[in-house]
Amino acid sequence: LKFQGFHSVPDASLWEELGKRKLESYKLSDSSVELIGWYNTSRSVHIGSRVTLRAASFDVENLKDGNEKSGDGFPVRGILINTNTIDEFKKIDKKDLLNKVGNEILDDIKSGSATEDPTLLVRFILLSFADLKKHKYIYWFGFPAIVDPTVSFQTPASKEQSMKPLLSMFAIEQHKCLEDFVTNPKYPFFLCIMKTGEESHIRPLKDWEKLTGIDKECAYFGFVDPCPLEGNPGWVLRNFLIYIRTLRKKERESLVCLRQSITESKILLVNSAMVENISDNAKTTFVGWEPNANGKMGPRVIDLSAHLDPIRLAEAACNLNLKLMTWRALPELNLNLLATTKCLLLGSGTLGCAVARGLLGWGFRNITMLDNGKVSYSNPVRQSLFAFDDCKNGGKPKAEAAVESLKAIFPGVNAKAISLTIPMPGHFVTSDAEHVEHTVKMLEELIQQHDAIFLLTDTRESRWLPTVFCAMYDKILINAALGFDGYLVMRHGHGLNVSPTTETESQQRLGCYFCNDIVAPRNSTQDRTLDQQCTVTRPGLAPVAGALAVEMLVNLLHNELGNRAPCPSTNDCASTEKSKVSKLGILPHQIRGFFSTFSSVLVQGPAFNQCTACSSRIIDKVRDEGFPTLLRIFNDPDYLESLAGLDELKTDTDLCDFDEDWTED
Ligand SMILES: [Zn+2]
Repeated sequence: LKFQGFHSVPDASLWEELGKRKLESYKLSDSSVELIGWYNTSRSVHIGSRVTLRAASFDVENLKDGNEKSGDGFPVRGILINTNTIDEFKKIDKKDLLNKVGNEILDDIKSGSATEDPTLLVRFILLSFADLKKHKYIYWFGFPAIVDPTVSFQTPASKEQSMKPLLSMFAIEQHKCLEDFVTNPKYPFFLCIMKTGEESHIRPLKDWEKLTGIDKECAYFGFVDPCPLEGNPGWVLRNFLIYIRTLRKKERESLVCLRQSITESKILLVNSAMVENISDNAKTTFVGWEPNANGKMGPRVIDLSAHLDPIRLAEAACNLNLKLMTWRALPELNLNLLATTKCLLLGSGTLGCAVARGLLGWGFRNITMLDNGKVSYSNPVRQSLFAFDDCKNGGKPKAEAAVESLKAIFPGVNAKAISLTIPMPGHFVTSDAEHVEHTVKMLEELIQQHDAIFLLTDTRESRWLPTVFCAMYDKILINAALGFDGYLVMRHGHGLNVSPTTETESQQRLGCYFCNDIVAPRNSTQDRTLDQQCTVTRPGLAPVAGALAVEMLVNLLHNELGNRAPCPSTNDCASTEKSKVSKLGILPHQIRGFFSTFSSVLVQGPAFNQCTACSSRIIDKVRDEGFPTLLRIFNDPDYLESLAGLDELKTDTDLCDFDEDWTED
């Protein structure tokens, strides 16, 4: 008597789900995880006995009743052991593992647990190693079965005599109930009470104890048989036979093998003597590892990469690298926060390109690039998102070319391009006031729609209006500016739309780019020689400053106070340990770097209440009066100084003009 072994049929969704869980929740844990699979009667001899598994196999909590049948058939309980390395996979003692689960089955048979929950009789082991970088899964299924050397057909010489069509054995009224049952079996294992001349009926296994006298004698044990073969029963019968022996110590047993239809169903006549032996687990042996596709005892491999769309592969691979950071190095990293934060990059030049690439690397997926220029022949060597072809025919609009490039690098990015000239103080607006008003409105809306704004433009005055709007709408603003051989990366203090709740909070508000100035921004492109106008900086500055700007945003997003976070204390700055405020480290206000000495310093400065950009005098005026005030400011920077109260200050004191040289791109 041979039992047809189970053939495991895990679909791709199972592996995808395993990959996801490994990355996001199991991480380095290799503890066993419960799974469910399903089996059913087989439609054809070519399909055979199958246990199917898919993503829903992980939802074990949905399996309340072991008799509960789903669309996939009856549940099979299993455990997943997913090792961290291929070596661990190889080293696991397969025989030991099979014995361990086999003994659990045996114990459940002996204790009677299997009566209440017959799924305990059919179990599997899934041993796997997930190579997430290559989308390869190495796996091996085992279906532990108790070996009973005494089991045999009652007529060993003839399969036909031992496995007969059910219909040939019983009268119509006897198999009537089975005919109904076969179309929608309620239990995987059951009792069928068939008395001569009477209508038979089906009962669950747990009713065995309730049966008396003639009913007990006339009871057939039955099971939903996954095997379609004429002369063999399915694998599930192995443990079931042992179970039957614990209930009825009968050497000869006739069993109902319920198959796809009543005509295909069988009566199986078996002999077995193994009753006493199972009292000793140590003497019991188990079999059940599934042979691989070559018919050898060994694992199988599935390579999902061939089935995955390249874009999904890129996304999965990038996410993998980020998620691996959360395994050990940075469990607190909130990748979802980064992926959903909407970034607006004002300026798509050297700094804009560097920042955009840094954002992609961290897994930011929403990036809007803004610029008013076109790609020129000098750009590609310094601006990492452009190539020679972008410069031809007058050059592509920079924002557009940058977005195309971002999408070529990573198609999963949600990138948008905006061509827009930021209106600036000192850049006079004459005939085109209507157009400028429209531009102001666009910029204001863009800032409202984004969460984090990067100021990466190449003049001082172009930073003014975005600074005002970010303060007005309390947006995160990261500012980067370059000198010839130095850089400044800073975050602006929080906005003014929410009045400070405490005195300390208002004192702690950090300054903006303009807070140290006592002159209003003016047209810096006038009266400048060529070397003062263009980007004349050491080429390494922009990548360094751009990278720092992105790192600063990541730290800020992970700080629970956000842009209200105060400056770190001198102690925190000196400490090499990770800050208590954020696991990523401290969150400085300003970083000033000097290539001449290859050094950088952390600087902090409070908000200045006569600031020409972020003070309440300016914000309130712009908010209340809107474009007419802005128009006057664009045309007359002196007006901005008087609005801020700087003219009083200048008259009062004899301060020299003090203009920091962080104005060049
Ligand atoms: Zn300010």
